[in-house]
Amino acid sequence: MSEQTLVVVGAGHVAAATARALRRRGFAGPVVVVGDEPVGPYQRPHLSKERLTSGGEDGLWLLAPAWCEANEVTLRTSSPVDRIDAGTGSVLLADGAAIAADVVVLATGGRPRRLAGLEGERVHHIRTLADSDRLRECLAAGRRIGVLGGGFLGSEIAAAALSAGAEVVVFDRDPVLLARALGPDIGAALTGLHQRRGIDLRLGGAITEIRPGTDGVTVVTLDGSETVDDLVVCIGIEPSTEVAVRSGLVVGNGVEVDAHGRTSVPNVFAAGDVAAHDHPLYGRVRVEHVDVAQRQAAAIAATVAGRPSVAGDAHWFWTDQYHVNVQGLGLTGRRATDSVVTRGSLADLDGTAFWLRDGRLVGGASIERGEDLSVARELMDLEIPVNAEQLADESIELEELLEQEEVTVR
Ligand SMILES: Cc1cc2nc3c(=O)[nH]c(=O)nc-3n(C[C@H](O)[C@H](O)[C@H](O)COP(=O)(O)OP(=O)(O)OC[C@H]3O[C@@H](n4cnc5c(N)ncnc54)[C@H](O)[C@@H]3O)c2cc1C
Repeated sequence: MSEQTLVVVGAGHVAAATARALRRRGFAGPVVVVGDEPVGPYQRPHLSKERLTSGGEDGLWLLAPAWCEANEVTLRTSSPVDRIDAGTGSVLLADGAAIAADVVVLATGGRPRRLAGLEGERVHHIRTLADSDRLRECLAAGRRIGVLGGGFLGSEIAAAALSAGAEVVVFDRDPVLLARALGPDIGAALTGLHQRRGIDLRLGGAITEIRPGTDGVTVVTLDGSETVDDLVVCIGIEPSTEVAVRSGLVVGNGVEVDAHGRTSVPNVFAAGDVAAHDHPLYGRVRVEHVDVAQRQAAAIAATVAGRPSVAGDAHWFWTDQYHVNVQGLGLTGRRATDSVVTRGSLADLDGTAFWLRDGRLVGGASIERGEDLSVARELMDLEIPVNAEQLADESIELEELLEQEEVTVR
């Protein structure tokens, strides 16, 4: 059988993970990565963290040119893709060129959600390296930076802007930062962290108007108005589904794929922020985390290499705010009826919240305790029964809960 050519559309996290996973799994055919940005795949999370504060390139690039050369992976930058021709399998570029493909992985990611009319030099949206570098130029002592939306991205950018010397004001209609994503206790702990560091938090109130101007942006709330030098809009993303739609793929909230990452068109897979995958634990869901994108890419690579595989792990992510590391595991599957148990002290930024259902762990979120979630993952994978007292009791090492089960099994 002749070697197959695999083309990845979109040069981001999925592309890098797919290329590496294919080679590790013995896929021998040509791999072509086509992206519209002027550079190859990079660590997007750096854009609201180290890249934003330092501008450095440490650990930024995901595919070194030497690795690509040695592994026969071709990278085509500044090459927007128009569509995939389902009939011929070709990937058609916007400039009219065509790349022959036997298998395509669609990984076009997402783009920041925008508010109508909110644009101009003083308005920022952060998705690309160029966006982050433009914002960094504006972060300096004496500058007042507004952040609209205090989710993961907004709170990271607020922390980075403050660390760079700027004054920062965060606007969010929720009264507590990140409570919806991480639960009220972790939300309260992180809200306190930002407050103590000196972020001006304008939470819980409606924004009635935003007026971008040449000298700044005025944000009007029910309590009055505030003019900032620059406003960073962090109100979520929309999946970039244009290529999928033009290619005739089934698209809902993202490109719909099965548990293997297959779209509705044969030999076309999709993964990452653009894909709504059919997860064995959570049903159809689209998530926006690096680890999920990478696991989906690895599953697709294994499937393409002849060992059908499913990205069925509990979703995991991290966020860094100042030097505080926060992680979440399995939060996609939380239910209002789950009980929540705390280990350590969340308020002191050293603890973990666990979500329990029917005597089993279904998720967790930790502040500065990633190791708790590593054990939690095993407890969840092995479906080991746990109870609230054991989880909360710091005199019991969490690993002991794993060993306890081994004894029981024997
Ligand atoms: C600032 C920032 C910080 C983040 N921090 C974290 C974090 O701390 N932890 C975490 O888990 N996740 C984080 N994320 C989310 C994470 O970066 C995404 O989940 C991840 O990038 C998804 O990978 P992807 O390959 O699906 O998409 P992307 O990495 O976005 O790659 C998609 C690529 O496709 C390109 N593309 C789009 N359309 C076309 C086209 N028509 N033709 C060619 N190319 C196209 C895009 O320009 C882009 O380069 C962060 C995201 C941002 C923006």
